[in-house]
Amino acid sequence: MSRSHSSSYTSYIIPASKEEIPVENEILLGTATAPKLENATLKAELGNAAWKVLHTTMAKFPDKPTKDDSQALKSFVHLFARLYPCGECARHFQKILEKFPPQVASRSTAAAWACHVHNEVNKSLKKEPFDCSKIGDFYDCGCADDEEGDGKDKDDFKQLELEKEG
Ligand SMILES: Cc1cc2nc3c(=O)[nH]c(=O)nc-3n(C[C@H](O)[C@H](O)[C@H](O)COP(=O)(O)OP(=O)(O)OC[C@H]3O[C@@H](n4cnc5c(N)ncnc54)[C@H](O)[C@@H]3O)c2cc1C
Repeated sequence: MSRSHSSSYTSYIIPASKEEIPVENEILLGTATAPKLENATLKAELGNAAWKVLHTTMAKFPDKPTKDDSQALKSFVHLFARLYPCGECARHFQKILEKFPPQVASRSTAAAWACHVHNEVNKSLKKEPFDCSKIGDFYDCGCADDEEGDGKDKDDFKQLELEKEG
């Protein structure tokens, strides 16, 4: 099937209502299949960007998530690990997740957990650990800058304070 720009592009997309999205453990915890990423510069750039997404996701996660929210975050982290496009990083990160499963009960526990697992990767790469007590300032979600909407979300969003589950 040839691809071209314009409206024909969208014809490959299966409507969400018709597609099942299975998230069983088999899918979430399956073996990472990306090839080894040899280029050190690309690996570092990818890592930088990916950590930014992961930490900012935690900084924007609800303070009091629903069960659904927490489940979605847990699934996201496992799929993030499985599909991470540096194969050896992905397989290493999956081992870290086995030891330190995602903590998703609140924004603060999720942010503390992400900082911890990033430090586990730092440790294996012989890098200095990051001071996780600073994470709230470092990944400011920027929510207060958002002037759009009715301000409800803004009011609900409190400064990140760290705590750990269990
Ligand atoms: C899931 C994952 C697994 C990876 N596995 C490997 C691997 O096995 N081998 C490999 O060579 N590379 C791996 N990488 C890449 C590696 O972690 C770095 O991204 C890369 O080496 C570039 O490092 P950096 O010093 O620029 O800072 P990065 O580690 O990319 O961090 C970016 C910035 O985040 C901040 N930061 C540092 N530590 C923390 C923390 N604990 N919490 C919050 N913020 C922090 C610092 O300001 C830092 O400059 C992985 C990346 C990811 C996302």
